[in-house]
Amino acid sequence: MSRSSELLRRDRAAVLHPYAPPGTPGPLFPVAHASGVRLTLADGRELIDGMSSWWAAIHGYNHPVLNAAVAKQLQDLGHVMFGGLTHEPAVRLCERLVEITPAPLTRVFLSDSGSVSVEVALKLAIQYQQARGRGAKHRFLTVLGGYHGDTLGAMSVCDPVNGMHSLFRGVLSEQLFAPLPGPRFHEPFASTSIDAFEALLAKHAHEVAAVILEPVVQNAGGMRFYHPEYLRRVRALCDAHDVLLILDEIATGFGRTGKLFGCEHAGIHADIMCVGKALTGGMMTLAATLVTEQVSEAIARSEPGVFMHGPTYMGNTLACAAALASLDLLFASDWCARVSAIEAQLTRELAPCPSLRGVADVRVLGAIGVVEMHAPVDLSVLQPAFVDAGVWLRPFGRLVYLMPPYVINEADLSILTSAVCSVLEEGG
Ligand SMILES: *Cc1c(COP(=O)(O)O)cnc(C)c1O
Repeated sequence: MSRSSELLRRDRAAVLHPYAPPGTPGPLFPVAHASGVRLTLADGRELIDGMSSWWAAIHGYNHPVLNAAVAKQLQDLGHVMFGGLTHEPAVRLCERLVEITPAPLTRVFLSDSGSVSVEVALKLAIQYQQARGRGAKHRFLTVLGGYHGDTLGAMSVCDPVNGMHSLFRGVLSEQLFAPLPGPRFHEPFASTSIDAFEALLAKHAHEVAAVILEPVVQNAGGMRFYHPEYLRRVRALCDAHDVLLILDEIATGFGRTGKLFGCEHAGIHADIMCVGKALTGGMMTLAATLVTEQVSEAIARSEPGVFMHGPTYMGNTLACAAALASLDLLFASDWCARVSAIEAQLTRELAPCPSLRGVADVRVLGAIGVVEMHAPVDLSVLQPAFVDAGVWLRPFGRLVYLMPPYVINEADLSILTSAVCSVLEEGG
């Protein structure tokens, strides 16, 4: 038995994978190395990465600068608790995040994953409203088609169908859902597009702590790109109705949509903002929740005077060092030009896809390319077909999508887009 199939046998006996049935022989590929934009499987095959490990590995894998930053930090100080102690990497990272995010966010709560940063955002909003004597404002309003993570609070604001709310009925808090945000990013905005959202917010403002949205791009909930004017209107309505705005930039943050943060397309800011995923360039698990002085002050001024949250691995030194190095790399690169070049190439090379059988829509924004099918794809067919074509892509539902590392070159990106075209042509 080869090492690779032996590993698969052991995996099936002991390991649970995300959104996959236990122990079944679905497609699963042992990976041995990753460097630049290439993953090397245990059987020696090389794949060009089109996923950035779920939005994270924006500089590619095994980056010497990120590796060195973590190694150096390890020499000085590994993980220590963050209660009662502080350290240079965490302080520098929080300062840096405040500096690069749209004003007026002034304070940062570090946590270990995107879902936790969303839980933190929801709890901050509730504590803020309580601190102002508005305890009745404890629900959340969002839109259909969103994704905010897999923990219970985050799930409650995910799309009710995609987020399988029926499975967890009675456990998840019941939140308020406006229709899908629209129109699409490049279509003309009609002022009626915001009517249903506005009516829902007006009706429930007395019980709503905050609106939570992914700015401009709805990610795992359907890979939809919506109009920045929708966001501008949401910001104004939140102010008019005395409701906080939480922006979940976990997927859109750090340049993916062509702006450093998705909300910059609309020229607005959040009261509470979540970042994660590309924060460490895919090196370590880390997320952050940023808040305005107004929110943090109000919580500090009233009972119990503290924010009630504290992850064990909060402010992990290695993750903070990786994040600082990743931000340095990002700003030292011409990321904006890189992302626009990827956008132009994706637009050009995915242009033939709409004529393929089974394709419903093709759309591109920043370094994100999406081919939406009429029917859900069969992963057990498509995944091995992409691997045979030499690329790593992981479709879900009706969506085949690409979000390569920003460092990908033109030739490698062409291999990705031609694999999409050829695999869908044969199997779509
Ligand atoms: C991935 C994601 C999350 C959850 O982050 P995890 O690190 O997987 O917990 C939350 N919100 C958005 C928009 C995401 O894309």
